Amino acid sequence: MAVRPVVKYPDPRLRQETSKVTTITEEVRALVQDLTETMFDENGAGIAAIQIGAPEKIFLIEGSVAGGEENSPPMVFINPEVVWASDETETKEEGCLSFPGIYVPIKRSVRARVRAMGMDGKIFEVEGEGLFARAMQHEGDHLNGKLMVDFVGPLKKQMITRKMKKLAAEEAEDAGEDEESAPASGSKRAKAR
Ligand code: ZN
Repeated sequence: MAVRPVVKYPDPRLRQETSKVTTITEEVRALVQDLTETMFDENGAGIAAIQIGAPEKIFLIEGSVAGGEENSPPMVFINPEVVWASDETETKEEGCLSFPGIYVPIKRSVRARVRAMGMDGKIFEVEGEGLFARAMQHEGDHLNGKLMVDFVGPLKKQMITRKMKKLAAEEAEDAGEDEESAPASGSKRAKAR
């Protein structure tokens, strides 16, 4: 059980093919626990397993985003499928834990219905609206290797890629400094993660 590092774009692991989960094993439970802790640590509205390097068809939606009380447990979706999405759409800015600091306007269906398996191994269907629907569509995209940059034009994509590569270089530099007993200069970006 641990907070795990989030895989950031353009890491090719975000494009890996994901595989179906057949049974809820101890490994699946442990993975969902790590996803929960990582999502809370990063303040995410949702997270997909592929974002912590586990290419399984699993995503989580934060409890209050999924219509629950504040601080309620996340809703777990295993082998999820969007079975219906409304023709009515809206365009809103979206963020992603794999693109820290980047926001992109994305057109999504206002309502979506998703079928998935829960942690009890049973199939359920849930319909969401607004942020809940958007989050399910966003996390569903992750399981198909689709990312925020795939919604923008080539220039913006280039700009985002450049920003993300710069961030990765800075993080690598910081990590190196940390190993050498973390001089003060290495701590200034710690909060941005
Ligand atoms: Zn994302």
